[in-house]
This record gives sequence, structure tokens and C-alpha cells, in this order.
Amino acid sequence: MKKSEDASERAREKSKARDLRNSQWWKNRVAEGKCHHCGIAVHPSELTMDHLLPISRGGKSVRSNVVPSCKKCNSERKNFMPAELILKTLFPDNMNEPHGDPHSSDAGDGSEALHH
Ligand SMILES: [Zn+2]
Repeated sequence: MKKSEDASERAREKSKARDLRNSQWWKNRVAEGKCHHCGIAVHPSELTMDHLLPISRGGKSVRSNVVPSCKKCNSERKNFMPAELILKTLFPDNMNEPHGDPHSSDAGDGSEALHH
């Protein structure tokens, strides 16, 4: 079934993430002691492996998709992709609004009122 294929795919990515975390490459990244997102100096033991595109969204455990992240950034990013974060920043009030704007129909009503 498709669903179990997805599950085993995710399990494979998680095991690859574990391998990557144990790799010398990752140890070198962490040894830099800097969060990829906010750029602050973080003790290597406080850095976590963050997937730019989360595995749950189809991301892969490859060098180009993982960055060292402080725990704060990692937990803040957990449920959002970068594009969603950007949208949330640009349109904080629009995220929960229905698409139609009640004020935009006022102009039409106003011009009709002129006919009376
Ligand atoms: Zn950070």
C-alpha cells in the first residue's frame, strides 16, 4: 500500500538523518557553534539538526537540506516551511481571513446609490 511505503520512506530518512548526525561533516558544522537561522553563537551541545524542508513534507536527510539550529529556532520553525514563515510575517492579519473583503463591495454599492 502507498501509506506503508511512505512510512518506510520516512523511517529510511530518519535513519539517514542519524547517520548524517554521526558523520564527521556534521560534527564539523556543529563545532562552528553557530545557529544557521539567527546566526548567534551557540554551544555545540545546544545545536540541533534542523531539516530545511522537514521530512514530514518530503524533505531528505542530505547535506544540502540539514543545518545546525539553536533549540529556539528549531522549535519555532518546527511546523512551518520558510515560505509559510515569510507569508506569516508579511500578512499576519490575512492568514485567518476569508478571501472576500467586505469593504471591496462597498464601492459597488456606493456607485449604485448615486443612481437614486
Ligand atoms: Zn537560532
